[in-house]
Amino acid sequence: MQDKIIIAIDGHSSTGKSSFAKAIAARMGYLYVDTGAMYRAVTLYALRHGLITRQGEVEEDALAAALPAIDIRFVNDADGQRATYLNGEDVEHEIRGIRVSGHVSRISAIAAVRERLVYLQQQMGRRKGLVMDGRDIGTVVFPQAEMKIFMTADAQVRAERRYREMKEKGRTVTFDDVLANVRQRDYEDEHRLVTPLRRAPDALLLDNSRLSPEEQMEWFFNQLKRLNEA
Ligand code: C5P
Repeated sequence: MQDKIIIAIDGHSSTGKSSFAKAIAARMGYLYVDTGAMYRAVTLYALRHGLITRQGEVEEDALAAALPAIDIRFVNDADGQRATYLNGEDVEHEIRGIRVSGHVSRISAIAAVRERLVYLQQQMGRRKGLVMDGRDIGTVVFPQAEMKIFMTADAQVRAERRYREMKEKGRTVTFDDVLANVRQRDYEDEHRLVTPLRRAPDALLLDNSRLSPEEQMEWFFNQLKRLNEA
């Protein structure tokens, strides 16, 4: 059997990275790690502990001091659904809301937060056999990953997907707010001083604006085959 590898998936928000990564992990029998959920969980912790002011300012020193006390785990429940746990509490629903989404870029721009989460992510990859998605997986967390993918899609298409998803979950949002949030996050992710979002030179580009989930899987297995033949 072929040796286990690390598959690093980066890209813009709402490109369907997690669905794609999850599907690959299921097909390969690999572990899936959603690093965005980790930044979201830290954001929720900061909100709950009053570490983000009304003006959106973050109490960075207090947050840095609290990091060792923030425990983040992924748990599979009985019907196979994954949930993110923050200090023993299932916060899966809450971390996906617009409140956390509105602050997460600022939290993830803090060097101490990134350092801590990158360390935890590297620990998870020690035995390989892992699909990890985020913004800096192929550039910082696993620069030696055997396979790197950078995902993108038109902002309008991404906002439509996200809007539909939120409506299905019964959330009250407007399309314009969702589109503004997608654009805002692109801007903040690409322009932050600490680890701005960028494509690793050796990452394969996947623009899925017009690709179905099946077509994306087909693309992935073609790339994997090429990698194995190289
Ligand atoms: O992937 P998701 O959209 O859930 O990520 C939420 C936010 O977390 C992103 O907008 C980005 O600011 C941050 N993030 C990051 N580095 C990662 C994963 C997510 O900065 N590896």
